[in-house]
Amino acid sequence: MIYLDHAATTPLRKEALEAMMPYLTDRFGNASAAYRPGVEGRKAVNQARRIIGGTLGTDAEEISFTSGGTEADNWAVKGTAFALAGKGRHMITTAIEHPAVLNSCRQLERYGFRVTYLDADRRGVVSPEAVRQAIRPDTILISVMYANNETGMIQPVREIGKIAKEHGIVFHSDAVQAYGHIPVLPKEDGIDLLSVSGHKFGGPKGCGFLYMRRGIAAEPLIAGGGQESGRRGGTEQVYGIAGMAAAAEIAVSTMEKTEPYTRSLRDRLAELLRSLVPGVQVHGDGNRLPGFLSVCFPGMEAEQLLIQLDMRQIYASGGSACASGSREPSHVLTAMGLSPEEIRGTLRLTIGEENTAEEMEQTAKAFREIVRLLRR
Ligand code: PLP
Repeated sequence: MIYLDHAATTPLRKEALEAMMPYLTDRFGNASAAYRPGVEGRKAVNQARRIIGGTLGTDAEEISFTSGGTEADNWAVKGTAFALAGKGRHMITTAIEHPAVLNSCRQLERYGFRVTYLDADRRGVVSPEAVRQAIRPDTILISVMYANNETGMIQPVREIGKIAKEHGIVFHSDAVQAYGHIPVLPKEDGIDLLSVSGHKFGGPKGCGFLYMRRGIAAEPLIAGGGQESGRRGGTEQVYGIAGMAAAAEIAVSTMEKTEPYTRSLRDRLAELLRSLVPGVQVHGDGNRLPGFLSVCFPGMEAEQLLIQLDMRQIYASGGSACASGSREPSHVLTAMGLSPEEIRGTLRLTIGEENTAEEMEQTAKAFREIVRLLRR
C-alpha cells in the first residue's frame, strides 16, 4: 500500500510503542497513588512533561496532557471564555480553523459570546491586518491555527502574536498539524495557548497536550480530581503520555533531516503530476508544511478519484478526514474563495517520512491512468 494521508494520522513509531508497553503491562499503577507502582507512573508523566516542554522551549509546568487535539482546542477556547467572560465576550478566529475550534466558538455564541470569523486569501493565508482590524474593546481571545490541516499553509502567527500582545489579548494557536514537522516555539511567537495532538507525529491516538503560558488562566474544561495540578481532572493515561513524549522527542530531534526529505518527495510528486496529468493545479505556495500537497483535478470528482486510488491501494483524502463522509464542500477551500468546481476536484495528499521516491512515481502514474479512465 501507499499511505498518503499523514495529516489524518501517522503510523505509531516503534520507540513510542516501546515506551508505552511497561505502562500497559507491569507498571499499571494509578499515577496519583502514593505507593511504588503509582509513583512509577507519576515519574513517567513528569518526565514526559519535561521532554515535551524541552521540545517547545517552555517549562514543563506549562504543559497539560489532554485526550488529544480536539480537547486541547476546546479547553483553550472555552476555558478562556469562562475565565474572562467578566472582561469581554468577543473572540476572533478564522473560517479555516479545525471544527474543534469552530464548533467551540459556535457553542459559545449560543451562550452570548460574539465571534468574528476571518476568511483566508486564495493561497489559504489569514491576514494579520484583518486580525488587527477585528479587535474590539471587549475582545478576549484570538485563535489562529499554526498551519492548516487541508492545505498545509503556515499562518503568520508571529505577527498575530505581536498584535495580540500590543492589545493585551490572549492568543491561542492550534499547532496540531505543525508540531513535530516544523519548529514550533510558542514563546518566540507570542503564543499563550498552543494545542497539539500525539497521533500526528508518530504518537498514539487519544493523547495530546495544551501549552498554557504561566500567568494565563484558562478555566479547567474537565472538572475532576486534582490531576494536572488541578487544571484537568481524570486519571492520567500514563501509557499514552509516555508514548507521545517518546514520539515527540524523535520527531523534533530528527526534523532537520525529515523536513527536507518529505518536502522533496512532495515537490517531486507535484512535478510528476503536472507533467503526467494536464491541467492539475496545486493550492497554496512554498510556505506550506513540508509533506502537504493540496491538488485540484479540474472537472473531476474527488470521491471518484479516491475510489480509484483505493482500488490501487493508494490512500489519500478529499479535504480533511473530519470533513470526509460529509457532502458539504470543504469550509477551508470555500473560505479561500475557490469555486465549487475547484473544491469538488481537490484532493489532499500528505507525505510522511516512511514514504519513498518510488512511491511518488507510482502514485503519479496511477493518477495518469485514473484521469484517463474517468475522462473517457
Ligand atoms: N486541529 C487540527 C488542525 C487537526 O488537524 C486535528 C485532527 O485532524 C485536530 C485539531 C484534532 O485532533 P485530535 O484528532 O487529536 O482530536
